[in-house]
Amino acid sequence: MDIKNIFTEKGIKATKNRLLITAYVFNSSKAVSLHDMHQIFINQMDRATVYRTLDFLAKNSILKKIANSKGINLFTINSEINAQFKCNTCDSIELLPEIPEEYKNILKNKNIKNFNITVEGTCSECE
Ligand SMILES: [Zn+2]
Repeated sequence: MDIKNIFTEKGIKATKNRLLITAYVFNSSKAVSLHDMHQIFINQMDRATVYRTLDFLAKNSILKKIANSKGINLFTINSEINAQFKCNTCDSIELLPEIPEEYKNILKNKNIKNFNITVEGTCSECE
């Protein structure tokens, strides 16, 4: 997927920082926190910039913000076709593959307001 197209489609300016952060989240199988992102881009941008960029991307529905049980916001792809797995021990959130075609067909003509399928349990690292 060309990340730049997502910005073009939404009519949002694709700045260097926005592209860097979006590309990272899209390629990550797990949802990331502000703290994680700050560590990853520590040489490129300060914490406030990372925070503002994540917030901006969530407000513009490019990323999705999910609060874990400790109240920490995690960011992931804003997808309407993925369910997610949440580990109740380490609070990590992993995107599951796209929902099956049958589901998509049934949902196609519905006006979906909120798509949220979360499977909870213990991840392989915590077991
Ligand atoms: Zn875990």
